Amino acid sequence: MSQEIKKKQIAILGSTGSIGTQALQVIEEHPERYEVYALTANNQVDLLIAQARRFMPEAVVIANENHYNTLKDALSDLPIKVYAGMEAICQIVESAPIDIVLTAMVGYAGLKPTMSAIRARKAIALANKETLVVAGELINKLAQEYRTPIIPVDSEHSAVFQCLAGEVGNTIEKVILTASGGPFRTFTYEQLQTVTPQQALKHPNWEMGAKITIDSASMMNKGFEVIEAKWLFGLQPDQIDVVVHPQSIIHSMVQFEDSSIKAQMGLPDMRLPIQYAFSYPDRIHASFDRLDFSKCTNLTFEQPDMKRFRNLALAYEAMHRGGNAPCVINAANEVVVDAFLKEKISFLSMSDIIEQTLEAVSFITTPTYDDYVATDTEARIIASQIINK
Ligand code: MG
Repeated sequence: MSQEIKKKQIAILGSTGSIGTQALQVIEEHPERYEVYALTANNQVDLLIAQARRFMPEAVVIANENHYNTLKDALSDLPIKVYAGMEAICQIVESAPIDIVLTAMVGYAGLKPTMSAIRARKAIALANKETLVVAGELINKLAQEYRTPIIPVDSEHSAVFQCLAGEVGNTIEKVILTASGGPFRTFTYEQLQTVTPQQALKHPNWEMGAKITIDSASMMNKGFEVIEAKWLFGLQPDQIDVVVHPQSIIHSMVQFEDSSIKAQMGLPDMRLPIQYAFSYPDRIHASFDRLDFSKCTNLTFEQPDMKRFRNLALAYEAMHRGGNAPCVINAANEVVVDAFLKEKISFLSMSDIIEQTLEAVSFITTPTYDDYVATDTEARIIASQIINK
């Protein structure tokens, strides 16, 4: 007797990025469970074409409209609907058959389509942490209103989420997010003054896109993850700790009120949190490598240094202020990371510019969606002006 499982229909926003391509590997390993309904990309049209031909989704969307004709022509022999532009991305996520929307695009651009998917009651597999950093309060309200589940894909938050399975009603004392410390963990302040984008792009443990790799090197990524944890798990700022754990084997921990600490462990491989977000609450087989304790003999921990890595302190500061402050640091960060990658500014000056932008943008206690859009624009202008001064 065989029971047909209804295949879950998945939309991947940002399918050509690091998370998107790994999500497709997960789907490829479980064709009996998952099917690609829609793929979207920003610019990488050639890879999107190859993915569409391989996975045969109902629809593909390229955000950059300049690539529309290339995409349309390349898929003209197939029954795949082809669209372009941000509005089309926001519309495609509402398609009736979709069960899960994986939000894996980079930065602030993830906010609007995530809101559309929540309103359409699609389970959100959240990989775009900026959505919660920028507008966590708004997103949580919306998710409650529409009763839409948000399942974390970020490895640390997936770890916390896994530790919380079976703990309904039990009080969380603390969440302890682990950080690898990035490529500059052991650098002195003086050494940090002259580091280059090439050095920053070499992450010791994780293979990721350029933006998040720079964020990891500057520890802004961890700062954003602290804010992300606040909204995902309903925590107060002083309930979220960061510990540097260079081996990236423990992906994060939860401490309960009886003092017990639960940790989730494994080799650093993003396919696990992606797969768990798809299969939740079930666990399903995975073919990837297992942690081998005969090779893993030394797990170490140290305190983060907020003097060398000021972005982490700035993120905590923005979280304490609340309102539109996290939106300001996110926008300023996107501008400074871009400028650092283009070698216009130094590694350490990224924090200076973010701090000055935070002080310059007018504070809004309870921002609406339009306030966030205005704050994002204002912060980008101010950060750019500081850079070009
Ligand atoms: Mg992470």
